Amino acid sequence: MITISRPLPGRRRLSPVPVVDAARPRGIIVKLLKYYMSSIIEVKDLVKQFGEFTAVDRISFSVAPGEIFAFLGPNGAGKSTTIKMLTTLLRPTQGSIRLGGADPVTDPEAVRRSFGIVFQDPSLDDELTAEENMEFHGMLYNMPRELRRERIEKLLNFVELWDRRKSLVKEFSGGMKRRLEIARGLLHHPKVIFLDEPTLGLDPQTRNHMWSYLQELNRTEGITVFFTTHYMEEADRVAGRIAIIDHGKIIASGSPDDLKRQTGKASLEDAFLEFTGHVIREEEANATDRLRQRAKMWGGGNRR
Ligand code: ADP
Ligand code: MG
Repeated sequence: MITISRPLPGRRRLSPVPVVDAARPRGIIVKLLKYYMSSIIEVKDLVKQFGEFTAVDRISFSVAPGEIFAFLGPNGAGKSTTIKMLTTLLRPTQGSIRLGGADPVTDPEAVRRSFGIVFQDPSLDDELTAEENMEFHGMLYNMPRELRRERIEKLLNFVELWDRRKSLVKEFSGGMKRRLEIARGLLHHPKVIFLDEPTLGLDPQTRNHMWSYLQELNRTEGITVFFTTHYMEEADRVAGRIAIIDHGKIIASGSPDDLKRQTGKASLEDAFLEFTGHVIREEEANATDRLRQRAKMWGGGNRR
């Protein structure tokens, strides 16, 4: 059984309070406040409109450092749009975002350094080797050569692709590509990793493996994980906390058990259906749109 490696933020308050040094109470109190109150992701009244259409409708949430946070919702709910705003790809229509304390609108460079991302659709260069894909990414982030080499070796070993580093990505299976994308997303040592449907179409073994890597990183490096998925049992197993978004609004949040309790259902899938209904939703924005967005981020172009 997989256990959540870190205390949930809500539970932190219950842990014993460290002994306060009476000589320096103020400094300690500030530290304690920071510890208890700081969020690595802070979203307030966030809105995204495409013309007349409101894709994200005044959502607010926060994620504590070291949390594994799932953002769930049917197709077209606004998940990817939210991730794009958090990761500097789209400019919010209204509301505020802080990622590691920085504002993606006014300080996109600082924000880009603090996160890694695995996109919903594959984004590797098929004609390059695994190692070249990693190298290229490291150069985009201005990583010094030595550090780049060291980190690439560590991460390719971590996702068990070091032996295949000289192979062209086009020879890789879907699962190997996903693992490589995760390694690439982690290359510049981000504090947060965003994963937009990272396990779509992968077999249960590969999915299981992928989550073991991410949980280990979460445990050992304290990396915050923000992910979306349509596999409810996956969210149930790995997420400490979940927000459910539908038609651009957050309609429920809490731990997997909270959501089951709120609906009186035994499984997260049933709880999810209770919240979101049974109507099948439209498909998402097309692949060309997503490709354009990605080019903007890594090419440093203007955002819409
Ligand atoms: P999800 O990732 O939850 O499936 P998205 O965030 O991709 O949903 O999309 C939310 C809604 O916004 C959908 O109705 C989608 O069609 C619409 N949308 C997304 N991107 C654009 C865009 N660039 N222009 C117009 N509408 C968009
Ligand atoms: Mg999406």
